[in-house]
Amino acid sequence: MSNFSKVILKKGKEESILRFHPWIFSGAIDRIVGNVEEGDVVTVHAADDRFLGIGHSSIGSIAVRIFSFHEVVPDLSFWCEKFQSAFNVRKKIGLISRRETNVFRLVHGEGDGMPGLIVDFYNGTAVLQAHTVGMWLIRDMLAEAMKTVLGEMLTSVYDKSSKSLPFKASVEPVDGYLLGFLTTHEVMEDGNRFIVDWEDGQKTGFFVDQRENRKLLSEYAFGKDVLNMFCYTGGFSFSALRGGANLVHSVDSSTKAIELTNQNVKLNFPGDTRHEAFESEAFEYMKNINGRYDLIILDPPAFAKHKNVLNQALQGYKRLNTRAFQQIRSGGVLFTFSCSQVVTKTNFREAIFSAAAISKRNVRILHQLSQPGDHPVNIYHPEGEYLKGLVLYVE
Ligand code: SAH
Repeated sequence: MSNFSKVILKKGKEESILRFHPWIFSGAIDRIVGNVEEGDVVTVHAADDRFLGIGHSSIGSIAVRIFSFHEVVPDLSFWCEKFQSAFNVRKKIGLISRRETNVFRLVHGEGDGMPGLIVDFYNGTAVLQAHTVGMWLIRDMLAEAMKTVLGEMLTSVYDKSSKSLPFKASVEPVDGYLLGFLTTHEVMEDGNRFIVDWEDGQKTGFFVDQRENRKLLSEYAFGKDVLNMFCYTGGFSFSALRGGANLVHSVDSSTKAIELTNQNVKLNFPGDTRHEAFESEAFEYMKNINGRYDLIILDPPAFAKHKNVLNQALQGYKRLNTRAFQQIRSGGVLFTFSCSQVVTKTNFREAIFSAAAISKRNVRILHQLSQPGDHPVNIYHPEGEYLKGLVLYVE
C-alpha cells in the first residue's frame, strides 16, 4: 500500500467518499504526498490521514476515480474479482449463454465498480474502451483478467480506446487486439443478426443499451408504417420488421450507417421489400412527412456532452420532437430517447412536454424507458443513469 502516492483531502471533504461516491474533485484536495502522473494509482485520505479509498488519478476536474474503498492491492487477482462480479450480474440477468442473444455489456464503468472502463461482449470478442489513462495503462492485465473469468467464451479482446481517452491525455493509444484474433464480426440480438464494426464503428460498434427498448418496439409494430430516425446499424428497424411492420424507413445522415443498415437487412430479411434506407439529415427528412408514419423512433446522438451546452441540447430535443408530434399520424406512437448524461429525466420530460404543447396534440405517456441491467447504475453514483426514453401515444 505504502508505495502509492497519497492524496490528502481538505478537512470535511471526505463526506461524499464516505457515502461511496467514486469521484474526487480536484477542488477537494488539500495536498498530494509523492509524485503523481496521470493514470497512477493513488490512495485517498481524510485530513486526519484516515484511509478512504484507492483509485486512478486523472488530470481534469475529476482528479481521482475510486475503484475500491478497501485497502487492496490492485493486482491481477483483484481485477479478476471485479470481472467475476460483473459477469455474475450478467448471468443473473440471464444474458450468458442465451441462445438468441450473444451481445451484451460486460462492464459499465462506475456501475460495475470500474470507473473509466467500458467493455462490450460481441459473440466471443470483448471490445474494451478505456475512458481514463489509469485503465488504459493496465489494459493487458484487464484482458488477462477477462480471459480468466470468461474462459472459453472469450476468443479475443480488442482495445478501442483511441477515441474514448480524454482529448488531452498524455498517451498515444493505438487500437488493436490485446488477446486472440478476429473470428467473426457477426452477433445476434434477440434473433436479429448484425455485423458489428468495432474497428471503425461508433462507440464500441453497436448500441447495446437499446436491446430491451427494441424488443418493446416490436410489440407495437404490427401493420404499422415505421420511421426509424438516426438508425445507425438499423437495430430498431429489424425489431419493427420482425414485429410485422407494414413498411420501415431507416434514416441516418451517415453513409456508413446506411450501408450497415442495408447490409444487416440483407442478412436478416433478404429480399424484403418492406424496408428502405435513406441517407438524410434528420430535420431535412422530417420537413415533409406529414401523416406518412404511425410509428416513429427518435434516437439521436447525445446532444449535450457538457453541462454548459445543456440549454442548447434541450432546445434540440424540443425542436426534433415538435417535428415528430406535428407530423405523426393520428393515433400514432412515438419512441423518443435521450442518451445525454447531463440531461436529467426531468429535463428531458420538460423538453418533450414543450414540444407536445407547441404541436397542440393530445399526448399520453405509455412507457418510461431506461437502460437495461447490463448497464447498471451504481446507487451511490446516480450520474451513471444516462439513457431516457418515453413511449407516447399521439391522438
Ligand atoms: N438508434 C441507433 C443508435 C443511434 S446513434 C441504434 O439503435 O443502434 C446516432 C446516429 O445518429 C448515428 O448513426 C449518426 O450518424 C446519426 N446522426 C447524427 N446526427 C444526425 C442528423 N443530424 N441527422 C440524421 N442522423 C444523424
